[in-house]
Amino acid sequence: MRIDVFTIFPEYLAPLDLSLIGKARREGLLDVAVHDLRTFTHDRHNTVDDTPYGGGAGMVMKPQPWSEALTYAASLAPGTPHLLVPAPSGRPFTQPFARALATEPWLAFACGRYEGIDERVCDFAAADLGWQVTPVSLGDYVLNGGEVAVLAMVEAIGRLVPGVVGNAESLVEESHEGGLLEYPVYTKPASWRVRGPAGEVVRAVPPVLLSGDHAAIAAWRHQQRLERTAERRPDLLRPEAAATTLEELGAP
Ligand code: SAM
Repeated sequence: MRIDVFTIFPEYLAPLDLSLIGKARREGLLDVAVHDLRTFTHDRHNTVDDTPYGGGAGMVMKPQPWSEALTYAASLAPGTPHLLVPAPSGRPFTQPFARALATEPWLAFACGRYEGIDERVCDFAAADLGWQVTPVSLGDYVLNGGEVAVLAMVEAIGRLVPGVVGNAESLVEESHEGGLLEYPVYTKPASWRVRGPAGEVVRAVPPVLLSGDHAAIAAWRHQQRLERTAERRPDLLRPEAAATTLEELGAP
């Protein structure tokens, strides 16, 4: 998969060199390129923002550097990328959405700052460059810029690209796969002595996990998934949460 990220803070994306995503880049499974939007400016101050038409607080990212950046991106590989534009007003980024995006050969990300990017940039990418364009929200809160959202999205999408996570089985029973949250997990010791404010306590692993009875363990885990999901995220139990393809997710 090819991934191009456009940002005014390329250093913000440095963590993409680390851990499993960094390893996948070195192994050629993910071809990630981070581009400085200011390279596409032509004034002395490398200006990327200006005041908003209609008034109001803050600044808006100018369309000109973005159109040049995206036109440059179009020349980087054959075909067209799917442009993902982080925005709190975008389509929610979910595990089914990440799974659908992980099947695409080329993703590009446009990191907004300030009050966001001039709306005509998305129109240009869709209508003039012929790209699929999707504004995407990481959650119902406001970040200072798109970079943190891109880090999260590239990690969530990248780990679903075949070969990136060594043991593909570990991707199957996770939270948000199959519509339920994951069951609680435990490791050694089976009986954990820990000193709390009221003195020493012993915390034990649920006995079924030590039983060796695989059917009983599977049944216990499934029950835990149901209870945890009902308690923490009842919204996930609604039928519409089961959409997995971009079409089912209502992508344009
Ligand atoms: N004025 C915008 C609004 O109210 O929709 C928010 C702009 S925000 C301060 C600046 C940038 O941060 C956005 O352009 C976007 O790139 C990014 N951003 C903020 N919150 C986000 C979220 N929840 N999901 C994805 N990106 C977000």
